[in-house]
Amino acid sequence: MLYLSTRGYPERKRFCDILLEGLAPDGGLYLPEHYPQIDAAQLGELRRVYHEQGYAELAFRILSLYIDDIPAEDLRALCAKTYTAEVFGTGEIVPLRHVEDGLWLEALSNGPTLAFKDMAMQLLGNLFEYELGRRGETLNILGATSGDTGSAAEYAMRGKQGVRVFMTSPHGRMSAFQQAQMFSLQDENIHNIAIEGVFDDCQDIVKAVSGDHAFKARYKIGTVNSINWARLLAQVVYYFAGYLQATQSDDQKVSFSVPSGNFGNVCAGHVARQMGLPIAKLVVATNENDVLDEFFRTGVYRVRGSAHTYETSSPSMDISKASNFERFVFDLLGRDAERTRQLFAEGVARDGFFDLSADPLFAQAAAHYGFVSGKSTHADRLATIRDVAERFGMVIDTHTADGVKVAREHMGKEPMIVLETALPIKFAETIQEALGHLPERPAKFIGIEDLPKRVQRMPADVEQVKAYIAKHCDAA
Ligand SMILES: *Cc1c(COP(=O)(O)O)cnc(C)c1O
Repeated sequence: MLYLSTRGYPERKRFCDILLEGLAPDGGLYLPEHYPQIDAAQLGELRRVYHEQGYAELAFRILSLYIDDIPAEDLRALCAKTYTAEVFGTGEIVPLRHVEDGLWLEALSNGPTLAFKDMAMQLLGNLFEYELGRRGETLNILGATSGDTGSAAEYAMRGKQGVRVFMTSPHGRMSAFQQAQMFSLQDENIHNIAIEGVFDDCQDIVKAVSGDHAFKARYKIGTVNSINWARLLAQVVYYFAGYLQATQSDDQKVSFSVPSGNFGNVCAGHVARQMGLPIAKLVVATNENDVLDEFFRTGVYRVRGSAHTYETSSPSMDISKASNFERFVFDLLGRDAERTRQLFAEGVARDGFFDLSADPLFAQAAAHYGFVSGKSTHADRLATIRDVAERFGMVIDTHTADGVKVAREHMGKEPMIVLETALPIKFAETIQEALGHLPERPAKFIGIEDLPKRVQRMPADVEQVKAYIAKHCDAA
């Protein structure tokens, strides 16, 4: 399998090259040249595999359709090492829970940091260690986080050979729980940098460091952000696992409702559907930051400035633009790379928007690709959390509540699976507001706020961050 860029860069690459690379050289995103097709017989075989051998083997079967530059037995071992009951809390890894008539929750949040990003990041950590070891190389991951991504990356990379993590976060602006999760890690290869500033300052620092090509090359700076194809691919697997749990036979369909920000999670659903998994609808659920809902309703994709990017109670969906969205638009346009480049490199970059409302292809987003959307506000979130707790005795987190709210607007005959993207303990203040009491805390997190913290505080100064990285790399 070879990979191409959505903006038409002429060279095709193999999986392990794009694994470590991130964006394509022309600024596009990588996609496979084609989506491998799963026919009825193969789906039946995957059903047997999942029920008899479990999630890790299912993951291996799906990943091996896309990865041909890692020997099969090595890839199988990497999957087996990643998707264990020990790491993900249950043998099923992503169990389904019934909520109400036709509506199910798929639990993706029982990994080490209690958010769905662990599903992909845990695999990425093992893939990085494997590939860097094979090449005899090292990588220094530099990132900016306001919560979920940074902690998922740190828990995935801790103790891994050949990898260091330098994670910036805005000093004093993450929840006490999130800070404790990240800063209590004592691993030598994990470096927390608390920047005196806001999240945008952290992102600017990462951009400035990555923009210094000499520094980047010398210190082998890399990223693990959500445009990484390997993360997206890992997520395709749980759409299959959700489908296989919700159905008894392969002629049935299901729909998925996905709490969305950067369009990474639901883009994996799009890939699964393109492979032939019988998905009726892909429901894109946003919060007040409704860039994606606006597109699927109107055909206009309009990125927001920072003044119009709101801080909400589902903060992991507070985005101004959806960084994975270009992948879907590329498919929607019949894989026309030149047009995709124009829309993103010119339209969005220059005008802040593009408009497909008059293009007949726009209607295909719903009619052919199954996409529908909706939006959920703080008041909706509180009402949904309350309703699900009172009527069904289940406490759901704020992002998942957005997914449930919008799912209920798109119910059809087929089962609707809402992806549970975090556990409520991560967003305890809003649960308290909705229910009048705090959510249950998993035993292994009791008292984490009292653990010793390992963090370096620093002003928002690129040179100081560079010096810190250099010191810790040169010393090793
Ligand atoms: C990251 C995240 C999302 C959004 O996922 P995208 O892939 O960016 O669309 C939703 N919920 C939670 C809890 C997250 O951490």
